[in-house]
Amino acid sequence: MKKVLVLEDEASIRGFIVINLRRAGYEVVEAESGEEALEKLQQHADVRVALLDIMLPGIDGFEVCRRIRATNSRIGIIMLTARSQEMDKVTGLMTGADDYVTKPFSPAELTARVDALMRRSGGGNEESSEEIRQDPFLLNTRNRTLEKNGERIKLTQVEYSIMCMFMENPGKALSREEILDLVWGRDYFGELKIVDVNIRRLRLKIEDNPTNPTYITTVWGYGYKWEF
Ligand code: CA
Repeated sequence: MKKVLVLEDEASIRGFIVINLRRAGYEVVEAESGEEALEKLQQHADVRVALLDIMLPGIDGFEVCRRIRATNSRIGIIMLTARSQEMDKVTGLMTGADDYVTKPFSPAELTARVDALMRRSGGGNEESSEEIRQDPFLLNTRNRTLEKNGERIKLTQVEYSIMCMFMENPGKALSREEILDLVWGRDYFGELKIVDVNIRRLRLKIEDNPTNPTYITTVWGYGYKWEF
């Protein structure tokens, strides 16, 4: 069952999220406060992903995240953050949460992030757990293959992991540190240069014109972004 919990005290934002997740095929459990969210999670043990707003009356989203993690390491947690002030706190919190989405976000961005976490927690259905289609690209996560316009592109395991990371994070600027963590793992203490080298090679394989990339763009002084 693809069940998602949405904790958000602002009714209009909650409604927007709920509608879009239902449209994407998810069953949604709603909560307006942290206390209610924890209660609902007790009742719905099959929730696979929780979206947690941070600023709430009563206990805040960080505390909710901490309490969920105290007993449940399996559930996927995405924090809903405001653009500016909460970023540092979120970074500090990444041990507990799996991901965060910055408001305002598009329905496509939100569902892509929930889909990605669903896949990782093994709760996706057949279709969404095997393929990510972003024309002209088709990523098959079971065979670990990539096609562009129906033609297979041969990738190394690392290049595949980078593509997977990008396609799961459409439109999101990813720092080189973040990419290193996501692809090589947190225990890898390599140089950031390895990120650039691999992305340069990947561009040669997937871009129409590698000297003027349009899919993987550079975010100067920061990292890279998948333009979808
Ligand atoms: Ca709020």
